[in-house]
Amino acid sequence: MDDCIFCKIIKGEIPCQKVYEDDKVFCFLDINPVNPGHTLVVPKTHSKQLLQMDDSDVAEVFQCAKKIAAAVVTGVGADGFNIGMNNEAAAGQAVWHAHVHVIPRFGNDGLRHWPGKPYQDNQAKEIQDRILKLL
Ligand code: 5GP
Ligand code: ZN
Repeated sequence: MDDCIFCKIIKGEIPCQKVYEDDKVFCFLDINPVNPGHTLVVPKTHSKQLLQMDDSDVAEVFQCAKKIAAAVVTGVGADGFNIGMNNEAAAGQAVWHAHVHVIPRFGNDGLRHWPGKPYQDNQAKEIQDRILKLL
């Protein structure tokens, strides 16, 4: 993808703070981190989001995210971490090359989790049925 910023980073055409690379995956610090050490784990093969990725790349990326998480947590002295992936604009995706966020967390970082909304009436059962039919 000629106009993809992450493809350009992978090819070395745009600078980054690289922390890991192998045949399938490229990892670098997010330019605008949630917390210091926030790292992006990016498959070298361009695809838009998770559902367009080969299963083999999914395995490589998430195994790599585990390895990166261990190093990031120790490296920055974090208390925990989040693994996140934004898929499509509605979910907050801004760069159209699939990637996984490894976000170190600190007990005092002040970040809040997503708010929950309880199901109403039979809604949970109806949604369960809809999903079950698709799997
Ligand atoms: P998304 O919302 O698409 O999941 O996240 C994209 C992430 O990429 C953002 O957290 C943003 O800060 C990061 N990002 C965007 N452009 C660049 C860049 O040129 N270099 C680096 N290192 N990170 C970038
Ligand atoms: Zn790309």
